Amino acid sequence: MWFFKCPEFCFGEDALTRLASLQGKRAFIVTDENIVELGFATAVQEQLVSANIQSQVFAEVEPDPSIQTVKRGAEAMLAYEPDWVVGLGGGSSMDAAKAMWILYERPDLEPAEINPFDELNLRQKARLICIPTTAGTGSESNYGIVLTDPADKRKLTLGSREATPDLAIVDPAFTAQLPRQITADTGIDVLSHAIEAYNCTWANDYTDGLCLQAVRMVFAYLPRAVAHGADDFEAREKMANAASIAGMVLGNSQVALAHALGHSAGGIFKQVPHGRITAVFLPTTIQFIAQAGLGRYRDIAQLLHLPARDETEGAASLVDAIYQLFGDIEQPQSLAAAGIPAAEFEEAMPLMIEHVDFDANTLMSPRIPETSEVEKLLLYAYNGRAVDF
Ligand SMILES: [Zn+2]
Repeated sequence: MWFFKCPEFCFGEDALTRLASLQGKRAFIVTDENIVELGFATAVQEQLVSANIQSQVFAEVEPDPSIQTVKRGAEAMLAYEPDWVVGLGGGSSMDAAKAMWILYERPDLEPAEINPFDELNLRQKARLICIPTTAGTGSESNYGIVLTDPADKRKLTLGSREATPDLAIVDPAFTAQLPRQITADTGIDVLSHAIEAYNCTWANDYTDGLCLQAVRMVFAYLPRAVAHGADDFEAREKMANAASIAGMVLGNSQVALAHALGHSAGGIFKQVPHGRITAVFLPTTIQFIAQAGLGRYRDIAQLLHLPARDETEGAASLVDAIYQLFGDIEQPQSLAAAGIPAAEFEEAMPLMIEHVDFDANTLMSPRIPETSEVEKLLLYAYNGRAVDF
């Protein structure tokens, strides 16, 4: 037995006006200071005024939100008693909103207790809306929650199907002005989500089509969104939608080895953003998987009209196309090019290998690497291009 879970989506131009038709009394908006400065929180509040809904803004979410921040937000929610919770921002704000909302509904829980196996019985007090302001994480589309515990420097990957937002509002107005670098870093993550979810052991009939459509959209529109920014509204809109479409495959399918490697290297070399560092591992892991005769890369290559007479040629064509895309959007093709110093990389090697071995996403890969192969994958990604197993 398997499940497919997703929110109601409201997308396209003026999608934000959906808020004006909400029924309710009080909304609690979870976001960060930057989003407030951009005027986005005010834009949300204006729509809520039209619906006669009062609102309060909590703008204290930091990148990689901590459990302490989540607890503070949940306390503020308990005092305000909202019947809507709104996560507004990138993945950090949306994930923090999910976790705060769960603790508001269930003050008896600790954040680390949020898991997919226990019934949480949410929605007794409020419902959840997520509104992304970047086009990449796809957190608005799924139930995943990533928090950090600064006490022992570990990332907590949490979630519950019940934490899937009730409504996701994907309004391209929020991403129209995204800086070029953030557009590239977050947009390329959409490709990693789609390709990994299509090739992982949880891939299924319900997610395959979403993966392929997201891949097609990234290749067609990400170079345009990076090159032309706000001047190409169509590309912005398509990338916002592609991110949410790929977001649905997280949880309903899963990401795999490139993300496990990206988490492990990204946890140490924090100067390289998630999307950028994970993408470097994408062609490396495709070759690792394809060289064992595994994966379904030919389908993707055919979709992109690349040479793909068989799996081997399809995988090779796809890898070439990904490197070409990296070039078009000025993403690094190796960890060395991403600015990670060789000596520091070498020193971090044992810890990175350990983290990959323990990352749940490693187990989603159709080919699970031995420890010695993890080291080779890391070295290949450091140098870029050639991979031989
Ligand atoms: Zn990702």
